[in-house]
Amino acid sequence: METDPTRLCELLVGLPEVTALGLDDEVGAPLSIHVETRARRPGCSECGVLARVKDRPVVTLVDLAAFGRPTRLVWNKFRWHCPELTCTGGSWTEDEPSIAAKRLMLSDRAGRWVTEQVGRHARTVNEIGVELGCDWPTINDTVVAYGTALVEHKDRFGTVEALGLDEIRSFGSARSGRRSNCLITCATQPGEEIPEVLGR
Ligand SMILES: [Zn+2]
Repeated sequence: METDPTRLCELLVGLPEVTALGLDDEVGAPLSIHVETRARRPGCSECGVLARVKDRPVVTLVDLAAFGRPTRLVWNKFRWHCPELTCTGGSWTEDEPSIAAKRLMLSDRAGRWVTEQVGRHARTVNEIGVELGCDWPTINDTVVAYGTALVEHKDRFGTVEALGLDEIRSFGSARSGRRSNCLITCATQPGEEIPEVLGR
C-alpha cells in the first residue's frame, strides 16, 4: 500500500480529522484511500468503563473522483465492546456522519457534491455514476437523501423581508381542458426563491 504523503494529503481535503493508512493504486481499479478516525476510546454508555476494540469492520464508500479516476474511501471502523462481564452495554460500531451518513454508499463529501451536480447543475445521475464509477441507484439514493434533507431544512428560505411578484404564467390542463395561472413569487434576497403558488 502506497503512503506517499503528498498524494495522501490531497486526497484528505474535505474530510474530517482522520488518519490516512495508505493508498491502493492498481491499474484498472478505482484508487482506494484507507482511513480511520482519530476517535478516543469511548466509555460504555451503560457503566462508563472504557471500551475495548472488538473488531475493525471495513466499509468501502464511493468517493469524489481524484486524479481523473474513480476513487473509494475505505473506512476502517472501530467496533467497541464493554469489558465488564456483568454490564449489558454490549458492543457498538463507531458512527461519524461527516465521513458518511448511515446506510448510504457514498462518502459525505461525495454525497454533497453529487447532490449539487444534479440539483444545481442539472447533470444526469447516469453521467455522474460513470464519473464516480458506480451504478445509477447508488447515486440516486444519495441525491434523494441529501436533497430531501435540504428541502425540509427549516432555514431553507432564510429571512424574507419583502415578497416580490416575479411572473404570472398561464397554462392549460390537457386532462380538464381548463387554464390555470401560476404566480411565481420571490424573496428580496438573491437565491431565496420560494415555491410557485398555483391559482385560477
Ligand atoms: Zn459497560
